[in-house]
Amino acid sequence: MAKKALIFGAGLAGTCLAHRLISSGIEVKIVDQGSNYSSAVAAGMVNPMVFRRMNKSWRLDEFLPEAQAFYQEIEQQLQTKFYHPIVIRRFFSSKEECDNWQKKAAQPDYANYLEKLTPADLENTEASNLFGSGRVKGAFWVDAAQWVASHLAYFKKLDLLIQSEFAAHLWDPQALVYAGETYDFVVFCMGFRQKEEETFSYLPLQQTKGQTLLVESKILNQSESLNRKCFVLPYGERQFRVGATYEWNNSTLHCTPEARELLLQNLASLGSFEPVVIAQAAGVRPTVLDRRPLMGKHPKHDGVFVFNGLGTKGYMMAPTLARELVAHMLENKPLHSETNISRFTDRTP
Ligand SMILES: Cc1cc2nc3c(=O)[nH]c(=O)nc-3n(C[C@H](O)[C@H](O)[C@H](O)COP(=O)(O)OP(=O)(O)OC[C@H]3O[C@@H](n4cnc5c(N)ncnc54)[C@H](O)[C@@H]3O)c2cc1C
Repeated sequence: MAKKALIFGAGLAGTCLAHRLISSGIEVKIVDQGSNYSSAVAAGMVNPMVFRRMNKSWRLDEFLPEAQAFYQEIEQQLQTKFYHPIVIRRFFSSKEECDNWQKKAAQPDYANYLEKLTPADLENTEASNLFGSGRVKGAFWVDAAQWVASHLAYFKKLDLLIQSEFAAHLWDPQALVYAGETYDFVVFCMGFRQKEEETFSYLPLQQTKGQTLLVESKILNQSESLNRKCFVLPYGERQFRVGATYEWNNSTLHCTPEARELLLQNLASLGSFEPVVIAQAAGVRPTVLDRRPLMGKHPKHDGVFVFNGLGTKGYMMAPTLARELVAHMLENKPLHSETNISRFTDRTP
């Protein structure tokens, strides 16, 4: 008989994990209370670079190809479009940043990610350009709202989705029983709300609010994602997502005029694009101070796992991390040491 897993949370973490478990022959049920606060609000950008330090993103060479293949495979499976390759054009903030790009672009391990600077890049006029611009290769974005909505519909159709709030009085972590059903594995993927639930409340999960604007502009470049101080993601039909704010230790979910003002200012520093704001969105990222995910087995309860802390780069990391967590759950393969919650065992109550 197939083993059974219960997942709490149908955001990015829970959905990627469900796919990986189902592919491994596990029977899956997912509990979700129905309104997502991060995965569906996200811009879904996958940027190989961390511009602040002009470095490749952590474990990029592993995460990026797997994510590209995974999202296209799931598109086929769900018969939906959410994977969109895009060129990111970074406008440099200083001569030093431009020099840094040039140095990095000449290194073989950046060849897949940074285009060498051409005269056209240096003189690009899509935005105000004092120090030149450079193009990132291998980037894409996932239509995040589409990802979450189509998964809720898909799992509902397969009768895997239990649309309800987690109920602590129905949960017995010793017996691995929830609502009268016994499972072989139970995985908590509740995003920023994980702190409200006792089982993994000892983990140092932080709540980092983010807001974005949807704007219309007749001037902005529709074929590249411009970047400096903010990102501008073309959505088609002259609409663009501008983001994002970082509001530390803030788990409120309302949009604020301050964030709107800041995002418009950041956009204005790129150029005069005559934006008309169509909508504003707010969500809360599940982040961790050491910027590494939270994955692994509960220190006291066998069969109880967590997959969280995806932070600002969730869409790039989740497909690989979900596969690694499943290998850990089913075959006891060790997790990457930087992701394993064993690094916080001294906090266990
Ligand atoms: C404004 C903004 C922009 C972002 N942009 C990007 C980006 O461009 N690229 C990128 O990679 N990442 C981005 N992110 C981050 C990304 O959204 C996260 O890394 C990722 O989506 C987190 O997924 P998750 O499944 O862990 O959490 P969530 O998406 O929060 O999912 C948790 C799920 O658990 C459910 N749940 C929670 N509590 C309960 C409960 N008590 N009972 C039942 N169900 C429950 C919720 O309904 C939800 O569906 C952004 C985030 C924000 C807010």
